[in-house]
Amino acid sequence: MVSDTDYSGYVSKGTRVLTGGDGVSYRFDPSSLPLELLLSGGPGPYGRFETLDRPADLASWLQESRLALTVPVTAADFRIRPAEFAEIQALRDTLWLVVGEIVHGRPPSAEDLTLINESAATTIQPKVDLVTGGLGWVTPITGAQVLGVVAREVIDFLVWDGGRRVRECAASDCRLVFLDTSRSRNRRWCSMERCGNRHKVRTYRARQDE
Ligand SMILES: [Zn+2]
Repeated sequence: MVSDTDYSGYVSKGTRVLTGGDGVSYRFDPSSLPLELLLSGGPGPYGRFETLDRPADLASWLQESRLALTVPVTAADFRIRPAEFAEIQALRDTLWLVVGEIVHGRPPSAEDLTLINESAATTIQPKVDLVTGGLGWVTPITGAQVLGVVAREVIDFLVWDGGRRVRECAASDCRLVFLDTSRSRNRRWCSMERCGNRHKVRTYRARQDE
């Protein structure tokens, strides 16, 4: 569940504050914009934690997302039409299916891959910022460009190591999915402060009981 508590002072863009069934909040960085998007809601049972009801919600969500890590953006930088919003939601629905297959070592369906391919047509237009000399983006950023940037990242992780870097948290009671960007490919937990720590505590207790 995504908390709306304001942790912006110490949570970097792309890291979301989630609240477990026990009411304890923790930070989770899925290390991938498409996987971060899954935290915003989804079809069927995921609809219970839907946070995006209209285009303005998506613009606000993007302002806190991993996208804003690369270049700071505000909700006002986006111009998302209702039809584009619907396409982004459809891509997110498909992503739930695709991720569900690849974390279990199964190939995604050709139909789902086709939708991802077709969504990747356009992307955010980069520019040299005339003031800072650093990277900037041409604004407004359209919904079609957001759709494309998400779809292109999905294509990247599907082809990178055959999608094996997309992994579900190793805790048996946790379904969070992240992209393992570690060099040693050994990220196991959604969050060290959550599942990593719970594992450490269990291991410690098991040793005490021996
Ligand atoms: Zn976990």
